[in-house]
Amino acid sequence: MESALTARDRVGVQDFVLLENHTSEVAFIENLRKRFKENLIYTYIGSVLVSVNPYKDLEIYTKQHMERYRGVNFYEVSPHIYAVSDNAYRSMRTERRDQCILISGESGAGKTEASKKVLQYYAVTCPASDQVQTVKDRLLQSNPVLEAFGNAKTLRNDNSSRFGKYMDIQFDFKGAPVGGHILNYLLEKSRVVHQSHGERNFHIFYQLIEGGEEDLLRRLGLERNTQQYQYLIKGNCPKVSSINDRSDWKAVRKALTVIGFNEDEVEELLNIIASVLHLGNVQFGGEDSGNAYITTDTQIKYLARLIGVDSSVLKEALTHKKITAKGEELMSPLNQEQASSARDALSKAIYGRTFTWLVNKINDSLAYQNTSVIGLLDIYGFEVFQNNSFEQFCINYCNEKLQQLFIELTLKSEQEEYEAEGITWEPVQYFNNKIICDLVEEKFKGIISILDEECLRPGDASDITFLQKLEDTVGGHAHFLTHKLADGKTRKVMGRDEFRLLHYAGEVNYNVNGFLDKNNDLLFRNLKEVMCMSENKILTQCFDREELTDKKRPETTATQFKTSLTKLMEILMSKEPSYVRCMKPNDAKQAGRFDEVLIRHQVKYLGLMENLRVRRAGFAYRRRYEIFLQRYKSLCPDTWPNWDGRLVDGVSTLVKHLGYKPEEYKLGRSKIFIRFPKTLFATEDALEVR
Ligand code: ADP
Ligand code: MG
Repeated sequence: MESALTARDRVGVQDFVLLENHTSEVAFIENLRKRFKENLIYTYIGSVLVSVNPYKDLEIYTKQHMERYRGVNFYEVSPHIYAVSDNAYRSMRTERRDQCILISGESGAGKTEASKKVLQYYAVTCPASDQVQTVKDRLLQSNPVLEAFGNAKTLRNDNSSRFGKYMDIQFDFKGAPVGGHILNYLLEKSRVVHQSHGERNFHIFYQLIEGGEEDLLRRLGLERNTQQYQYLIKGNCPKVSSINDRSDWKAVRKALTVIGFNEDEVEELLNIIASVLHLGNVQFGGEDSGNAYITTDTQIKYLARLIGVDSSVLKEALTHKKITAKGEELMSPLNQEQASSARDALSKAIYGRTFTWLVNKINDSLAYQNTSVIGLLDIYGFEVFQNNSFEQFCINYCNEKLQQLFIELTLKSEQEEYEAEGITWEPVQYFNNKIICDLVEEKFKGIISILDEECLRPGDASDITFLQKLEDTVGGHAHFLTHKLADGKTRKVMGRDEFRLLHYAGEVNYNVNGFLDKNNDLLFRNLKEVMCMSENKILTQCFDREELTDKKRPETTATQFKTSLTKLMEILMSKEPSYVRCMKPNDAKQAGRFDEVLIRHQVKYLGLMENLRVRRAGFAYRRRYEIFLQRYKSLCPDTWPNWDGRLVDGVSTLVKHLGYKPEEYKLGRSKIFIRFPKTLFATEDALEVR
């Protein structure tokens, strides 16, 4: 029989707290690598699940696997996403406390797949009644719909979620899933009008064109050729080998029906998708005066019909901007470039708002009630690219907030456990990133406030004046730097149009180009007016007339995001968290390849070493008395075959017999706490050789 020691050598430890050299990043990565080679993609840091994307189908998600994890103690079976799911479910049931599962990691690391596994686990293992089956189906079917409209092929992931998602799964008193609710965050709308090389637009466009029935396409005025559409050719990537647009189309159509869309709604939804494609093909010419005029009348004709507006009104709106001069409203002509960007702004607005409408519609069908919930967060991880812009700024700010929550909740729960067990709490030193959150979000003097201020300021406000304002206002902040403020060495690697933030996970340079525009997210008023006139029922819900009469400026993108994040934090704070940290092993989306440099990078940005340190700062291991006794009672004549007295006395007798030193363990009310992993290792080995 293989001894415990050699098994450990081969497959590593299933919980990082058991690593002998727990401060060593090298040992950490080596453990990941060993396990990955053995297809063991899951490892714990205490109760945190670390997962490495295998990029191949492993036989570990069958119904039998689900059964294996049902109702079993966390540490008794090998680490698995089902163990986390089951644990959260049981805590919700027994402790009557709402739960949340927070899934993080960079693009392509496996977050969305993990969240689907959790959902499937509940759909299969939880009790159900007939009526509940519909909700289960709807919960499951919401995924293909949201992915069709919110996911796209990127360089990093063929099915990359371009929005953040938080989903509540609701359970009734019997523990059956009875409803759900989705919150969406910051859809990458810019993708509607532009894609980088090798990337695609949102899946739905290709699905419709490849899979849509002949008469449907005819009705929508679309040709079955994605290359005909300006919005679909920017990335020069019409087909993806891992994606079958045609069969996905069928799946999406079916899912829409399961969720409860009626035929009219589907038609109006597809009218909108087609409109965006036609809008992209609207081209402008320039008169001698410089004023733009429309050169593509066919597109306008289709648009007018699909959106249900007058074509001359639409034409004027696309080439003019309404201004108020001396109390009078005037239509001022746009030049070619302005008209193009107004058109793109309209496309983005239509698509973005329709996406939100879709989420709301799904929510309506998921009958939300106030019962116990398990929340699932699948949201973008830390992003550091060659060139980082407004989007990365928002995403990384989100990660700062999540890190703060993580610190508070992990430390808090550690503290609570020690208190509950009557063990003295020893404070843990850690870096509190609140200072960085404040730098970004503080009222009046945070980066977002300053950005909003520049967005509001008439006159010469520009991305560069924004940068200068930042220097004036937060230039002295320890976590902020610009070219001008940097010393000689750092200055060399910083552009004059960049600012650097020292995030908890590392430094990131942000290029300010486009910050003002992206934050303003402006849509000309007359284009809004046209959309309000639309006969398409979805669009009239998306473009509310009240918006036109509202004198207040619409909130900027960053401020909206900040508000929604604050709400998200409140939601998460009220729940007991479980963490899943996803990693990707290589950039080639290949099975079996473990790129150490890439992994090291992620270990850093996910803050895993810090996580382990916090976890280890107290007691590495804890076990309920009955479980501990049951497992090891054979090692001591006094506890074998049965211990009749109090559990705590049995455990005490056992560990004294095993030679545990007083500083190595503590006995709480219901659990034994063991400080060093090696203590437990020795005991495990004793069990093996016996
Ligand atoms: P993310 O949401 O983190 O960007 P995804 O969950 O979309 O990443 O995963 C990207 C791809 O990686 C998936 O499309 C799938 O091919 C593969 N993948 C992710 N997780 C697993 C897994 N547990 N088993 C097999 N393949 C996976
Ligand atoms: Mg995803």
